Amino acid sequence: MTAMIAPGATIGILGGGQLGRMTAQAAARLGYRTAILAPEADAPAFDVATYRLQADYRDEAALQHFASAVDVITYEFENVPVETAEFLAQLRPVRPGPKVLKITQDRLREKDFCGRAGCPTTRYRALQHYSQLAAAAADLGLPAVLKATRLGYDGKAQAMLTAPEQFGAGWRVVGDGVGILEAFVDFVAEASVIVARSPSGQVACYPAVENRHADHILHSTHVPGCLTAAHRQEAEAIARRLADAVALEGLLAVELFVTREGPLLVNELAPRPHNSGHWTMDFAATSQFEQLIRAICNLPLGDPSALGPCVMENLLGDQITDWPGILATPGARLHLYGKREVKAGRKMGHVNRPA
Ligand code: AMP
Repeated sequence: MTAMIAPGATIGILGGGQLGRMTAQAAARLGYRTAILAPEADAPAFDVATYRLQADYRDEAALQHFASAVDVITYEFENVPVETAEFLAQLRPVRPGPKVLKITQDRLREKDFCGRAGCPTTRYRALQHYSQLAAAAADLGLPAVLKATRLGYDGKAQAMLTAPEQFGAGWRVVGDGVGILEAFVDFVAEASVIVARSPSGQVACYPAVENRHADHILHSTHVPGCLTAAHRQEAEAIARRLADAVALEGLLAVELFVTREGPLLVNELAPRPHNSGHWTMDFAATSQFEQLIRAICNLPLGDPSALGPCVMENLLGDQITDWPGILATPGARLHLYGKREVKAGRKMGHVNRPA
């Protein structure tokens, strides 16, 4: 049996963005201290952490120092180098473990893993080289979506291919790396579900929610949105299967396509709190950030049920200037990330409201 890590301990978080910030805030509420390791000088999470360490993820002396100051380690974004997680795992528990990070950093590994776990994805082909693209496209049919297997997010590093003339230009998103060609999914909606699992095997799954995007960036999350009870059940079953298959210790966010008639298809996984789970801060019995702390410390998991229908809207770029109006709106719950520089499309905060 894995021991509990009791309040008073220090939680190490790799990454200093808003997810790290909100995790640190939830940790403090339960009486934990936090240490943030991030490469940026002005990381939003630094403002609210007990200890801050500005260092590169590959700086072994800094990692050693970080590990010696903490009792358990998690991360707030999945592109932390796997070697960093493996190095730290020799010194302290890293939850979710490096194996999960390795799967979720690579779109091919991720889809292969889903298939092995019995969770459907769209059809796909691995592309080691440009010369394999035409045959893969003939196999899957057009339109199809070409993606780099690594480092893509919010629609970056991907190209929609509708005709062979676009193959050459489209390959630029892959460059020297490995590509994946995915059959285009004519989805009716996008959904996500967040599941928590503790080292002792307790699982708690949040209700699945509907996500609406604009310019490939999450615009709003709707609870329950257009999802039927059957969708929610199917999504939850998928999330539980994936969490058990990877022996998850922490959170796993599962992004899904809702198709017209077929099953839900898994699009992407993230082993961390997720933007589409921000509604839980005000409208679930336990927020996703508190749930992460409970899971990695092997505490009893919290109740994931929704308290009522609600909507989460991201505040991107200069939408943040609306903050006085939001504060003046009854029922609106404003969350700001303390980012110093406003940039177009940058996630500056979010607002939760009853639906
Ligand atoms: P991703 O970076 O994989 O999350 O993709 C970003 C967005 O592109 C998704 O939220 C979808 O709206 C769209 N997309 C990605 N893959 C596909 C696909 N195979 N078929 C249709 N749309 C897709």
